[in-house]
Amino acid sequence: MNYTPEQRAMWDRAVENFRATLTAPAFDMWIKPLKLYAVTDSEILVVCDDPRTPIEIARHMMPRLSAMLQADFGRGHTLRLLDQRQLEEQANALKSTMLIERYTFENFIVGPSNNLAYAASLAVAEQPSDAYNPLFIYGDVGLGKTHLMNAIGNYILRQDPMARVLLTTSEHFTNELIEKIRNKRGDEMRNKMRSVDVLMVDDIQFLARTTVSQEEFFHTFNDLYLSGKQIVISSDRPPHELPTLEERLRSRFGSGLIVDIGKPDFETRVAIIRHKAEEDYIDLPSDAAQFIAAHFDRSIRELEGALTRVSAKSRLLGYPITLELTEEALRELVQTQDTRVVTPSAIIQTVAQQYDVRPEDILGKKRNQEVVVPRQISIYICRELTELSTVAIGREFGNRDHTTIMHSCEKVAGQMKGDAQFRRRVEELIDRVKGN
Ligand code: ADP
Ligand code: MG
Repeated sequence: MNYTPEQRAMWDRAVENFRATLTAPAFDMWIKPLKLYAVTDSEILVVCDDPRTPIEIARHMMPRLSAMLQADFGRGHTLRLLDQRQLEEQANALKSTMLIERYTFENFIVGPSNNLAYAASLAVAEQPSDAYNPLFIYGDVGLGKTHLMNAIGNYILRQDPMARVLLTTSEHFTNELIEKIRNKRGDEMRNKMRSVDVLMVDDIQFLARTTVSQEEFFHTFNDLYLSGKQIVISSDRPPHELPTLEERLRSRFGSGLIVDIGKPDFETRVAIIRHKAEEDYIDLPSDAAQFIAAHFDRSIRELEGALTRVSAKSRLLGYPITLELTEEALRELVQTQDTRVVTPSAIIQTVAQQYDVRPEDILGKKRNQEVVVPRQISIYICRELTELSTVAIGREFGNRDHTTIMHSCEKVAGQMKGDAQFRRRVEELIDRVKGN
C-alpha cells in the first residue's frame, strides 16, 4: 500500500463530501472510477480504473476535488491523475530493475552453512513484514547473500506482480542520492524509496560515511520500518562490526533477525557444483566434481569459476571432462592456493580491507577503536602465521615496541576466548590470509 489508513480515510471522506455536491449519475461517471493510488510527501496520486470514463471531464472535476482533499491533507498536497501510461511508468520505477531472475530459492543449494539464512529468507518472502523485520544477512563475499535477496524479490513478485520490490546496493543508493541532491531532486528519491513495499539494500558496509547518505538512509529506513514495510539488509559482517555506521542505524538493524552465511562444507560444495553443471548442461563426472570441491573452499563464486574453467578447457580441446582434464585445467590455481607465502603486508592488507580502514592507519599512531581493533588483530595474525619474533613484528608495524606486540596478541587471544563471534571473525581472517 502506498498510503496510510488515515490517508485512505481522508480520501474516502473527501469523496463522500464531493458526492453531496453532484447528481448521482455525474458522481458515478466521473468520480466513482477514481481510485486512490498513492500519497507522497507532496502529491495525492489517483488513477481512473474505468477506461471509458472521459478523462477530460474527470479533469474538470479535479480542481474541486483537489480543494476538498486539501481541507484534510493540507495545502502542501496536490492532486494528480495518472493515466495508464504514467501508472505503468510509476509502477516500473518502483519495481526493481535490478532483480536477477535466475537467482531463485529453487536453485539455491541448502547445507548446514546456509540453512538458517535460507529459511529466514524464505519466511520473509512468504510473509513479508510478518516474519522477520528487518532481516539482516551477513557473510563473506561469494557465499550467496545477493542470490538470496534476489530470490526473496523474485518470490514476492511471483506471488504479487504489483508488489513494489526495490533491491539496491548501498553504493547505488548513495550515488543516486548524491546525484539527485545535486540536481535539487532529493524529494524524488525520497518518494521513490518510501513508496516501496519491500526494500532490500545489498552490501550495507559500503554505505558512504557522508552524513547526508546516512541521514537519508536512516529516515527512509525508519519510515518504512514504522509503516510495516519489509526491509532486508546484507553485509559482509554483523551490525556491531560496521564501524562506519551510525549507532542508531546499527541498533535498528539489530532489532530484527540477524543470520549469517558461512563457508559451505565439502558435501554442500559438491552438491553446488553438480547443480551448476546440470544447469549448464555440463557433463561432469563425480571424481572431477569432488576434485573441484576439495580444492576450492572459500566461496561459491570461486567454485563456479573453477567449473567454468574446466568446462571451457573441455570445449576448446573437444574432449569430455575427466579427472585428468580437471586437474590439468586447474593446476595453476590449485598450486598458487597451496603455496602462498604469508607476509605481514598481506595480513595488513586483508584485515584493513575487512574493516574498511586504510593499511596506513593500521601502521599509524591513531588510537581510536576503528583502527585499534584491526591493528591488534593484524598483529595477532602475524604472530600466528609467520615465523617473525615480536621484535620483528614490531618493526613491521610502524616501529612498535615488542611489549606492545605482546600486549596486542594477549588482548586478541583473550577476547577470542570470551567472544565466540569475535573468534570466528579472526579465524575467518586467518583463513582468508592463508588463501590470499
Ligand atoms: P554474495 O552476495 O554473498 O557475495 P552471491 O549471492 O553473489 O554471493 O553468490 C555468488 C555466486 O554463488 C552466485 O552465482 C550464486 O548464484 C552462487 N551461489 C551462492 N550460494 C549458492 C547456493 N547455496 N546454491 C547455489 N548457488 C549459490
Ligand atoms: Mg553480493
